[in-house]
Amino acid sequence: MELLKRTFFSPEHQAFRDQVRRFCENEIAPRHAQWEQDHGVPLDIWRKAGENGLLCCWLTEEQGGPGADVLFDVIVAEELSRIGATGPGFNLHSMVVAPYIAHYGTPEVQRAILPRMVSGELVGAIAMTEPGAGSDLASIKTRAVREGDDWLITGQKTFITNGQNAGVIVVAAQTEDAQGKGGISMFVVTADMAGFSRGRNLHKIGQHAQDTAELFFDQVRVPAHHLLGEVNKGFRYMMQELPQERLCISVNCQSRAEAVFELTQTYVKDRKAFKQRIADFQNTRFKLASLWADLQAGRALCDSMIQRHLAGELDSIGASAGKLWHSELLARVTDECVQLHGGYGYMQEYAVARAYCDARIERIYAGTSEIMKEIIARAICDEPRK
Ligand SMILES: Cc1cc2nc3c(=O)[nH]c(=O)nc-3n(C[C@H](O)[C@H](O)[C@H](O)COP(=O)(O)OP(=O)(O)OC[C@H]3O[C@@H](n4cnc5c(N)ncnc54)[C@H](O)[C@@H]3O)c2cc1C
Repeated sequence: MELLKRTFFSPEHQAFRDQVRRFCENEIAPRHAQWEQDHGVPLDIWRKAGENGLLCCWLTEEQGGPGADVLFDVIVAEELSRIGATGPGFNLHSMVVAPYIAHYGTPEVQRAILPRMVSGELVGAIAMTEPGAGSDLASIKTRAVREGDDWLITGQKTFITNGQNAGVIVVAAQTEDAQGKGGISMFVVTADMAGFSRGRNLHKIGQHAQDTAELFFDQVRVPAHHLLGEVNKGFRYMMQELPQERLCISVNCQSRAEAVFELTQTYVKDRKAFKQRIADFQNTRFKLASLWADLQAGRALCDSMIQRHLAGELDSIGASAGKLWHSELLARVTDECVQLHGGYGYMQEYAVARAYCDARIERIYAGTSEIMKEIIARAICDEPRK
């Protein structure tokens, strides 16, 4: 039963989706359980993804990319979410990290980094959060001090997705004392720079195949041309880039929720209790009917966000509202679907159990639900009436 027709994908997009689906089913799904045990994915999968054109699809040919559009990256995100592959952080690499470099990087840095991100040779990460500052990014303590032609970066970051595998990291640092937002700059650090090191691979309650790390910067000497854009404009750049990051969360959550719904639909038709299918109890039927209605609304919202983004019209409020709604939709769907699986829904070997644990973070990273509400509420309550 189709939720809604999706008319904005061309035949090329459809063909690409088939190719990505095959890649996910052949190269990722059979290995993902092992990666969950390992708490990370091997670098060879990044290379393979690069060889198959799955990374940074939106980058222009001049930038070393295939010159496609961001819908191709959306397709990669949707297909990974469909199979619950939370390990390969392709989405963050292509749609969150690469844009900072492509939009604000010097030509020299773009030439050195972007083609290697497209090939999967360099894995990208973004390092904003610190042990003492997550939601309140203005109070980060990592410092960048100018020394001759270089910057010296010192500080610590935590919870960094792709952190163990990353070869290139976009780092937020304060360049001036006590300036808060107005003192943040962004830098491109490569993992081979002296003074850079990684800490623990953090063990989480879900998304076990994803490498999430602490990163340390001990007087890392970064050449001046590795500054992104202008000095002290980092906070502004984050505000410009965050809508796409939040759109990614909406895309992932919607696709994941649809997949979890489908596997639950199959389960309740197979499993019996009291001589009938679980699907025959009115409670099950009504629960699934409500979730299906939610999924349909979620699909409409998600597709409208994608289309607004393609038209350059997805603003911070729209993206925050979507991120809030879709991350909470996924929480609702996974919770109800675990319930419909009974005890099996609590077993790690069941996809629904993993989806439930994996989903929890969606309401926290890329801005918590509370911060999303703050952003929306500010526009509702504080902006002058038009
Ligand atoms: C698995 C994982 C992957 C991550 N990946 C990355 C990454 O790749 N790069 C990166 O930079 N960061 C990453 N993060 C960090 C993530 O973005 C932060 O954890 C998140 O922004 C919340 O920050 P915090 O953990 O410091 O919580 P805090 O900011 O300490 O918040 C604690 C609680 O207080 C609430 N709160 C805070 N401020 C307000 C307010 N003004 N009003 C109301 N409530 C408020 C929050 O909503 C939350 O409920 C990741 C985190 C995890 C767990």
